[in-house]
Amino acid sequence: MEKENQEKFQCPECESKNIRFRFKVSTKDKNNPYANVTEEIQCASCFMDIPANVFIFKNANDIEDNKKIWQSFYKPEHLKVAAQCSKCSQYYWQIEKQLSDINITSPDIFYQTYDTKGSGGKMVCRLCDPEAFKNNKQ
Ligand SMILES: [Zn+2]
Ligand SMILES: [Zn+2]
Repeated sequence: MEKENQEKFQCPECESKNIRFRFKVSTKDKNNPYANVTEEIQCASCFMDIPANVFIFKNANDIEDNKKIWQSFYKPEHLKVAAQCSKCSQYYWQIEKQLSDINITSPDIFYQTYDTKGSGGKMVCRLCDPEAFKNNKQ
């Protein structure tokens, strides 16, 4: 394997080089900033899901560009759609980080409350209501 073709990772949010997951994504909306994103990486340090194309770099020069693209282009869009707790108002990455500090690494971090008026449920996180997650340990 040639060294210069090797992918290197650096989180454009927190500069960590460690990744937690790498997964395929697709966006049908062609006008969305994420339209060309086919893969995302979840950072093992800040826990944000970030497009792989700004997490991977080949040359050191790419790092600053990746940060700029993430901050100005992808992140504002991500903040609009990111899962957020209706009680503590924290985003999924803040919740996952705190859970990992207490050794909970399950992706199961939210449940949805059901509104009897039928206007859709609200998300409540595992930190706000740990009891609710006691039975789905597996
Ligand atoms: Zn990060
Ligand atoms: Zn919460």
